[in-house]
Amino acid sequence: MPNSGRNINIVLEEKIALLEKALIRERNAKKRLEVQLDEKAEIALYENKEFFDSYEKATSKQVQLQFLASLTQELLLDKNIDESFYHFAGNVAKLLDTCSAVVMRVNHDTHNSVWSLASGDKQWQIKPWLQGYEDIVNPFLTQSELCWHRIEYKSIGNNAIYSTLFRNDTLLYLVVKITETERRLILFDISHFCYGDDFKQTLGIAAQQFGAAIKRRMTKVELAYNYRDLRNTVNELRATQQQLIHSEKMSSLGQLAAGVAHEINNPIGYISSNLNVLKDYLKIYEHAFSQLPLTIVQQFNNTKELSFARNDVNELLNSCIIGVERVTDIVASLKTFSRKEQDDFSAVSINEVIESALKIVWNQLKYDHEIVQELALNLPKIQGNYGQLQQVFVNLFVNAAQAMNERGELLIESNFVDNSIEVNVHDTGCGMDESVIRRLFEPFYTTKNESEGTGLGLSVSYAIIEKHNALISVSSKPNQGCTFTLKFPILSL
Ligand code: ADP
Repeated sequence: MPNSGRNINIVLEEKIALLEKALIRERNAKKRLEVQLDEKAEIALYENKEFFDSYEKATSKQVQLQFLASLTQELLLDKNIDESFYHFAGNVAKLLDTCSAVVMRVNHDTHNSVWSLASGDKQWQIKPWLQGYEDIVNPFLTQSELCWHRIEYKSIGNNAIYSTLFRNDTLLYLVVKITETERRLILFDISHFCYGDDFKQTLGIAAQQFGAAIKRRMTKVELAYNYRDLRNTVNELRATQQQLIHSEKMSSLGQLAAGVAHEINNPIGYISSNLNVLKDYLKIYEHAFSQLPLTIVQQFNNTKELSFARNDVNELLNSCIIGVERVTDIVASLKTFSRKEQDDFSAVSINEVIESALKIVWNQLKYDHEIVQELALNLPKIQGNYGQLQQVFVNLFVNAAQAMNERGELLIESNFVDNSIEVNVHDTGCGMDESVIRRLFEPFYTTKNESEGTGLGLSVSYAIIEKHNALISVSSKPNQGCTFTLKFPILSL
């Protein structure tokens, strides 16, 4: 039995030894596993960090892309320049997470309005330009346009105005050229500018896009202005062409009338003098007749035809003389149309001419109508022919009097306007329609009956006005009176 007990001990010891060895092996294996686990954990941690970094980058890129996309969309809309600035500054302020932005419109020397954008609420207010803004603005305006710049508030100096507009001491700003003389300045009030390169690059792209959109808008505006100017020029050219055609027509009609006058002049001359000689002869006959014996005179008077002819011949001769005098007057008027005529020009006071013409027609006007004169004092004199100008005003006043049936008002104004003396002759008469206005200055055009008008007054006036390098125009509507405007340029005389 003692042998069997020893054997059991040996077996146990061997087993313990084996177990101890196994334990050591296990411990070593565990250590190795733990080392491996640590290594794996470290790798996983590193990979996670990379993942988070790129996630953050991707989110920021997405925000930037969204910003650029919405900016492009807004710039495509046809907004006006002010609105574009409003949106651009608002979007950038949102992207930068800044508290405020200020847009200033700066003209070379006349600085004007300021807009400011309060953080978040997007409420823009237009503030008047204050003295002191120049100090803030001037340092920026020398910068190249369309570049983001950052500036320390301290470098602008201690400006009280600055602190009313901004809270931080760092500014990010952008200068945009609008015209040769106008710049817009956007100032962003920021607390830091610690952004990555890609973020700054995005701001650069935004500035380029915005600048290009503003340039496009300005080109459009310029084109619209040019188009408007062109249209005005075309209209002016059309009006000048119409005037030329009209003047040409008037001048050919005038020349025709002057030619006719020239032809009539001689026959009228000898008809007139012959009629006067005839009148003298008649007086001789009458005298001889009165010397005849009474029986012969009685015999003559008893013959009805002879007695009638004797009485009528005087009347006929008188009316012929009156008629020829009228034709002589018309011929004299028609001679005014002749361009060859050399007129006597001297320094003439238009107000004096008006007053003398009024005296001539005074009797025709004073009892029936009211006459108002508003003549400017100290008007410069013009070079002109006193008599011819008087004739123009007499024609205008007589026409006005004839146009006013009931008690009307004749208003005569003279003024110095745009280097010209402007005279307005306004009446409250019957006025005229378009068809009359179109033919008004044509020789022999009249709407009056034969005893009242020859249709020469205005055509003669037109020719006289042309000789004075002046202009005559009319504005009238049926039953609404009529205004004739005369313009005598001072420089061209
Ligand atoms: P006349 O007076 O002999 O008819 P004018 O040449 O002076 O000739 O005028 C031409 C026509 O113009 C007139 O017949 C008349 O129809 C119109 N007219 C001129 N002045 C006026 C006026 N002040 N108001 C209305 N019609 C006018």
